[in-house]
Amino acid sequence: MDEKGQGTLEYAIILALVAIVAIAALSYLGSQLRNIFYSLTEVLLSNCESVTKSIYNYGGTLPPGALTGTGKFMWPTKGRITQKSWHCHHAVDIANSEGTPIYAADSGHVVVAGWKKGGYGKVVIVNHGNGFQTLYSHLSVIRVSVGQSVAKGQRVGLMGNTGHSAGSHLHFEVRQSSQLCDPLEFVSP
Ligand SMILES: [Zn+2]
Repeated sequence: MDEKGQGTLEYAIILALVAIVAIAALSYLGSQLRNIFYSLTEVLLSNCESVTKSIYNYGGTLPPGALTGTGKFMWPTKGRITQKSWHCHHAVDIANSEGTPIYAADSGHVVVAGWKKGGYGKVVIVNHGNGFQTLYSHLSVIRVSVGQSVAKGQRVGLMGNTGHSAGSHLHFEVRQSSQLCDPLEFVSP
């Protein structure tokens, strides 16, 4: 290869590297902007601090052998974290495609299974019988009913985009007594 050819080759390699770095930077920036957009939409639509902090109870009789929590949570689905817990959002958002299975983070019984006002859309709340409740919202499909026992890791529904949501994701809350906790203090992916 002559000197001119060598120079052109080097130039082409440098150009390709610059292009790869630029594409990587843009796609990273794009996903960060998308996360910010999803997060802001959910928070703005739901009004900061307006979330209900109630503890839900099941009025009926629990079936014999109703399950209670093990005290250790498991990560409830597969996906990337798009929003953590902060002043206006006491939950963690995990995004993935619609239909991704959502699992009970611990054993317990279902106290809410249906559409809930306040932006949650289709939501499931599991009472673990040990002071903890976990909430799974924006679901596309609910697979459990109120009063039913669920084992840790049992599928409670499918990920979706119902309620105040700008994209398919799970909004996951951990409640201890009537306190909304930071889920990441109890469980990590
Ligand atoms: Zn959320």
